[in-house]
Amino acid sequence: MDHSDGARSALIVGAGIAGLTTASALARRGWQVEVVEAGAEGATAGWGLSLTGPSLRALDGLGLAEQCLAAGYGMSVITNADANGVVSSMELPHLIGHDSPAMAGIARPELHRILRTEALRLGARIHYGLSVSRVDQGDGETRAELTDGTVRTVDLLVGADGIRSVVRDLIGPPAEIRYHGQMVWRALVPRPGWATGIHTFAGAGHQTGVVPISRNQAYVFLTENQARHDVLPDADLARRMGELLAPFNGRVTEIRSEVERSDSVVRRPLQTVFVDTSWSDGTSVIIGDAAHAPSPQMASGAALAIEDGLVLAQELDRCHDTRKALEAFVDRRRERCEVLVNTSVAIAELEQQQRHEHSYPLMEACHQLMALPV
Ligand SMILES: Cc1cc2nc3c(=O)[nH]c(=O)nc-3n(C[C@H](O)[C@H](O)[C@H](O)COP(=O)(O)OP(=O)(O)OC[C@H]3O[C@@H](n4cnc5c(N)ncnc54)[C@H](O)[C@@H]3O)c2cc1C
Repeated sequence: MDHSDGARSALIVGAGIAGLTTASALARRGWQVEVVEAGAEGATAGWGLSLTGPSLRALDGLGLAEQCLAAGYGMSVITNADANGVVSSMELPHLIGHDSPAMAGIARPELHRILRTEALRLGARIHYGLSVSRVDQGDGETRAELTDGTVRTVDLLVGADGIRSVVRDLIGPPAEIRYHGQMVWRALVPRPGWATGIHTFAGAGHQTGVVPISRNQAYVFLTENQARHDVLPDADLARRMGELLAPFNGRVTEIRSEVERSDSVVRRPLQTVFVDTSWSDGTSVIIGDAAHAPSPQMASGAALAIEDGLVLAQELDRCHDTRKALEAFVDRRRERCEVLVNTSVAIAELEQQQRHEHSYPLMEACHQLMALPV
């Protein structure tokens, strides 16, 4: 990378939520940023996600919250119906102003489009179909060999390459990816008129719910408990998801018929990671799901990923010794991320024990905790 103008240089591995927000946060502070992404341009996994208050607050720090609200669906309330039909609701904290929604549902491709456009506008360069194969620490710099045979020597290397991070394995001991017995099914459906917030429904065996992601679209999720961690043929997914929805009644009957017609059903294991050894080595660091991947029950993994990018850039601004800045970054992030991962695992366990009367208050308390300043 050309250092001729004195700018500090960063190589970011992974153009997901953490990688793209870090690229913008660093580029706007004058860093020369290059991003390598193993996947193809425009490819995203899953249909949509919820940006809860902490996500919107962090996106606001990058000037992107309004765009995400405009591209998605603003909402404030989660309504939970337990297996006996008892309905409770929680209004999430409004973190970007009382007049703005507490959260937004958004299609993943839309979120990625917004994050990518901003990173490119700020001068970051993004290469698709490229990864890193070897990392060596030098004196105040990192030397990275890429899978196309080229080499980068940079002031900072950021591993933002998700739960199955290669950078994590290259800079530290292997981390355990834990499966907690749940598979999650998702399908894209037309937004039902009554779905103006997130709705969840607990059944005798599994949980389901609806998340609006635009005026016209929503996704349905179904969390299958005590499930085998296996792969089913794509052609069977809509029918099988419909079968799992069959024991639910009320509003789920309506969404079930949409799911059975859908050609967009996906099924994935719910897995978590928390790296309890160091997240950094010399001038390399892992962030986002690479360091701390929660199970999605708290809908807050993206919040942690975006916050990581902002906090990392702040610490690198504060201290030009990259190694020390990375230690300060990890100090600021570790406890918050660990609490969220552990809470998500506890909720997954309560769901499988059908103890929803305990999981809902735990979720609400954790949302309040996450609302505290970062
Ligand atoms: C089913 C499900 C539902 C969820 N719902 C929500 C939700 O509603 N709200 C929420 O906040 N969070 C949610 N999450 C969590 C959220 O998706 C993650 O926490 C978030 O995507 C983490 O961002 P990331 O950038 O760290 O990782 P990722 O989004 O996984 O991005 C990693 C990127 O790195 C790339 N990559 C991987 N390996 C390499 C490599 N070797 N070299 C180069 N590039 C590589 C990948 O292609 C990808 O682009 C959910 C997760 C799941 C599984």
